[in-house]
Amino acid sequence: MGKGTLIKELLKRLPGLQLAVSATTREPRDGEVNGRDYHFLSREDFDRRVAAGEFVEHAEYAGNRYGTLRTELARPARGIVLEIDVQGARQVRETLPEATRIFIEPPSFEDLARRLRQRGADSPEQIERRLRAAREELAARDEFDRRIVNDDLERASRELTALVATMCPP
Ligand code: 5GP
Repeated sequence: MGKGTLIKELLKRLPGLQLAVSATTREPRDGEVNGRDYHFLSREDFDRRVAAGEFVEHAEYAGNRYGTLRTELARPARGIVLEIDVQGARQVRETLPEATRIFIEPPSFEDLARRLRQRGADSPEQIERRLRAAREELAARDEFDRRIVNDDLERASRELTALVATMCPP
């Protein structure tokens, strides 16, 4: 179970939160829907929007571009959740200083590697790139405001929900 599952569980348990839909240049996976899972953009469109200042943060991850559009933050909500990588989180510290940045930590590097392989969504090369990126991300975990170890869905969900509930009163 990855951090996506944990965040879905958070959204179920704390009504009123909104997940910002990120933009990306990666190809949609089976079952992913444009506008729901991601805004799937061409590289040209993505770069044009970067130049126009439309992103709060953006990064290159394992060969693809990802970013949060400012329009995603304008929706009324109890709180807005960004699921982003470490490079994005570093920018958010500057662009959204009021945000709390939580690092979702895999129980071990081996666990993460096993999950990526079992998911079967990526080619072996993509998996290697993602594991390299994850190793760098793990090294940055102390930069975050909070850390939650993603060892067990129920335990981690309870911890994350309790934390976000204190930050986002109904
Ligand atoms: P995936 O391709 O598996 O959906 O996402 C790959 C990585 O990109 C994940 O670590 C995910 O958190 C990150 N990511 C997704 N959306 C964004 C975003 O809007 N900004 C940044 N900086 N990273 C993102």
